[in-house]
Amino acid sequence: MCAAQLKDVPELSVHRVTLSVRQLQPCVEQLVLSTVGAADEAPFTMSASRTMRVKILGSGAGGGFPQWNCACPNCAALRAGTFHGKARTQAQLAVSADNRSWFLLGASPDLRAQIEAAPELHPREGLRQSPIVGAVLANADIDHVLGLLLLRELQPLRVHTTRSIRHILTEDNSMFAMLQRVPAQVAWTSFVPGPTFPLQNPAGEDSGLRCRPLSLGAHYPAYVAPRRQSELSSGEASLGLILQSPSGKRLAYMPAVPQIDRALLQEFESADVLLFDGTFWNDDELIRIQGSGQTARQMGHVPVSGDDGSLTRLAGLSRARRIYVHINNTNPMLNQAGPEYREVREAGWEIAEDGWQFDL
Ligand SMILES: [Zn+2]
Repeated sequence: MCAAQLKDVPELSVHRVTLSVRQLQPCVEQLVLSTVGAADEAPFTMSASRTMRVKILGSGAGGGFPQWNCACPNCAALRAGTFHGKARTQAQLAVSADNRSWFLLGASPDLRAQIEAAPELHPREGLRQSPIVGAVLANADIDHVLGLLLLRELQPLRVHTTRSIRHILTEDNSMFAMLQRVPAQVAWTSFVPGPTFPLQNPAGEDSGLRCRPLSLGAHYPAYVAPRRQSELSSGEASLGLILQSPSGKRLAYMPAVPQIDRALLQEFESADVLLFDGTFWNDDELIRIQGSGQTARQMGHVPVSGDDGSLTRLAGLSRARRIYVHINNTNPMLNQAGPEYREVREAGWEIAEDGWQFDL
């Protein structure tokens, strides 16, 4: 499916569901693990459809494309106006069950511009309001959490994340205190890898969307002090997210996958759409360009190409629509005139662009 078709999404038919209201006390912290058993039967309290709308607000990796200090062949050609491909902001998704209340997956440093580029995310009621009601944080990387600080204008939000990531942000980084100036500003809700939890708005109302986090990486960002790292759970460092729509359709959002094992392959077999780590084409991509540095795998990203790369390892997936996302500016598959782009497309994959959306 081409980008033009992807953007051509018909308006959702939205039904207002008025089921019994379960009293959920708004609280500063709620460990969802204890309510997992009831999560699948939880009644909707927000107007909801059976469909989940997914918006790809940003499809690039950290730094975006072009990256401010990069003159690699891709970045240089894009700036010169000779590149066959599009600029990309840093990875950011938004999901909604009703097209009115939205949850962010991650909080990118480009969030302000990404919100302005998406009319659904603009204020629509009163002088101060936002359709953004919550976020899910899957790691503590700068390019995944910095956008939270852009949402500091006393707008109520619910942030779902692990205890470890919350500790890093709120206890070690004093700027995040701007999100806690008043008691009802940000409600932090902890989850653990494995169990499914419901995405809730700041009042504790159930969106109808479900999220199941999978532990993927054990490394915390370099800015986290060694002593703090030793206190944290390694399984809470980096997560992939399985989002489920009210109708049961599944989106696997996996922008940082260090390796593909059998358990992960099984998860992907049950997904309807797979948004997968397209950060690097080659394992030594950055080393080739910079002359030094880490391999893709050392940075927690399985490369696209190679015998053990994702194109080969995921070639047997039959069900899911497969889309690469979180694409680094150095990745040659961004060039639509190049052989790498052609190889990916001929293998049945799409390469995400900012602004794409689809319904599940
Ligand atoms: Zn570059």
